[in-house]
Amino acid sequence: MNYQRSSALFAEAKQYIPGGVNSPVRAFKAVGGDPIFVKEAKGAYFYDEDGNRFIDYIASWGPLILGHAHKPVMDAVIEKAKKGTSFGMPTEIETQLAQLAISMVPNIDKIRFVNSGTEACMSAIRLARGFTKRDKIIKFAGCYHGHSDSFLIQAGSGAVTFGTPNSPGVTQGTAKDTLLVNYNDLESVRAMVSANKGEIAAIIIEPVAGNMGCIVPQNDFMNGLRELCTKEQILLIFDEVMTGFRLAKGGAQEVLGIDADIVTFGKVIGGGLPVGAFAARKEIMDYLAPDGPVYQAGTLSGNPLAMSAGLAMLMELNNKPEVFESLADKTEHLHEGFDRILKGKGVPHQINRMGSMISVHFTEEPVVDFASSAKGNNNMFKKYFHGMLNRGIYLPPSAFESYFLNDALSYGDLDQTIKALESVVEDLN
Ligand SMILES: *Cc1c(COP(=O)(O)O)cnc(C)c1O
Repeated sequence: MNYQRSSALFAEAKQYIPGGVNSPVRAFKAVGGDPIFVKEAKGAYFYDEDGNRFIDYIASWGPLILGHAHKPVMDAVIEKAKKGTSFGMPTEIETQLAQLAISMVPNIDKIRFVNSGTEACMSAIRLARGFTKRDKIIKFAGCYHGHSDSFLIQAGSGAVTFGTPNSPGVTQGTAKDTLLVNYNDLESVRAMVSANKGEIAAIIIEPVAGNMGCIVPQNDFMNGLRELCTKEQILLIFDEVMTGFRLAKGGAQEVLGIDADIVTFGKVIGGGLPVGAFAARKEIMDYLAPDGPVYQAGTLSGNPLAMSAGLAMLMELNNKPEVFESLADKTEHLHEGFDRILKGKGVPHQINRMGSMISVHFTEEPVVDFASSAKGNNNMFKKYFHGMLNRGIYLPPSAFESYFLNDALSYGDLDQTIKALESVVEDLN
């Protein structure tokens, strides 16, 4: 495949934009080579600046669950744009999207819209801290909640219970209030809670993780978390930026049967435009300004174009809930095809999947947390990624990302993807 024009555009972009990109994963650092510049997209495919066609398995990292340029969403945005793009005043469509989202998701009475998942998670912990009057939060190693300071934290050394910054610019003062524990390891959470009794405002978690590959909560882990939070009066925050309106109408709360105290959204809720949101029961949400003392605001929050895309998207999902089953079936088909081929060639691998989220890890051991995910063979992943890319299959350019299937993918597309792996696997070992 020829990537000449993409490479030239990347070289030019690097002169004016740090690393040539506006979000690091796009730069292909983890897999090497130059990123592909997209020209346009429709349904399950996108076309790059060199005229190559790719079957897309990232769907803009999740939002485009019904495929690119989905007509009802596109039409809604175009019509709305003709009437003005931003007012900084209330509009009816904000209430319409709020009502619909609240009707689809369990345990939420009120919702506040922001512009990204980062903002949603950042605001959710401020609200949790204000509401509980406690400072500390617990997060899980390998879970991603956006790039606000409180979340850019890694585990400290064994002797200290608090985290340390994992990016320059994050202060020790901030880091000390974020405690790190391990996914699927209830004992690590119990120990952390009892070492910080009465000080923890919230535990935030991706209820199905998607930022260390796809990792599914095991056995009684989530039940245990819920019980612990209730007992210790800690708010349980489900970061459903990825899983919300993707795993089911009601997201992971519905699929796992667990009630969260605060839920954050992003991605699908914006239908491909910049939207984030956080929501909770009334008594918690009423703690927010202007009714309550916890401050939170945004010039473009509830933007009419963004709201119209989100509303059109959620209406589609609400009216056609069979989409979630269709997506899960397609993802299972891909899983079975990939598993058969990798097994056939004796390539050590794990495939994790829930709903329309799936990831392939080149390792012998089950992948259940960040440490086991990090054991994947990255050289093999690079070969796999570029092999698939050269055959017109666009997978996430990092072993730590989940794939997001979209419902525009046909079984023909899936079979073409499986066939591509059949040829790529020859060079893997
Ligand atoms: C993408 C993501 C975020 C951050 O959302 P942005 O819109 O990129 O700021 C937060 N949490 C999870 C689980 C995500 O997948």
